[in-house]
Amino acid sequence: MSAPFLIFFAVLFGATFGSFASVLVHRVPVKMSLMTRSQCTSCGHQIGAWENIPVLSFIALHGKCRSCGSKFSWSYPALEVGMAVLFAIAPLVFHSWTAVLLWISLSIFGLPLFLIDVKLHRLPDLLTGALFFASALIIICSAFAHHHFNRLVPSFVGALALATYYFAIVVVSRGGMGMGDVKLSASVGLISGYFGLHAVLVSSFTAFALGSLIGVALIVLGKAGRKTAIPFGPFIIVGQMISLLVLSHLGS
Ligand SMILES: [Zn+2]
Repeated sequence: MSAPFLIFFAVLFGATFGSFASVLVHRVPVKMSLMTRSQCTSCGHQIGAWENIPVLSFIALHGKCRSCGSKFSWSYPALEVGMAVLFAIAPLVFHSWTAVLLWISLSIFGLPLFLIDVKLHRLPDLLTGALFFASALIIICSAFAHHHFNRLVPSFVGALALATYYFAIVVVSRGGMGMGDVKLSASVGLISGYFGLHAVLVSSFTAFALGSLIGVALIVLGKAGRKTAIPFGPFIIVGQMISLLVLSHLGS
């Protein structure tokens, strides 16, 4: 398939998964079923298929409910565009299908985790679990396809080592970090470890560097005090995505 076609499909799938990501962000924290149709939160009007086309429906309906006219949040199209951009990056940047699939699963589950952690300071088990399961599946399939069985060892060692490290921080810091961060870090260890144990260090270092930088910036800007709890999940996710971008170019 030629590059423009590949990007076209990446954008199409990305926007669709962006719409799914909105569903995850709104329903997972309140344990609502993911299977039922979307409804207008004001009047209960069921959103039909053609009212649910990513971005285009929002523009066509001027961001309003067709039934009662109440405004829908701009976060829906924003998430659809954001996910489309993340998906489009994949075929442009990565040379291996393993990296493409890991990037896509990080986007699908990482972006909702990012937003939920910022909003509610939580990382729901359903999403950290789904990310771990999807990453493990991709890595095991890749190991079988390329006969890279030796890479499974640092991958699972990385998951265990990083989760242990974060767990130690949870115990020592008492409230600075939570068990959600520990579970999320297992996926990071798993994904990075597949590219070598040095990669685990790169993604963890990136997460802590970003966390310190943004933490200091927020304090300087007066948006946070020394005691403000800043959720760490977003840094773990962004750190992993940056290191995947960098590491896949270093011959993995
Ligand atoms: Zn309505």
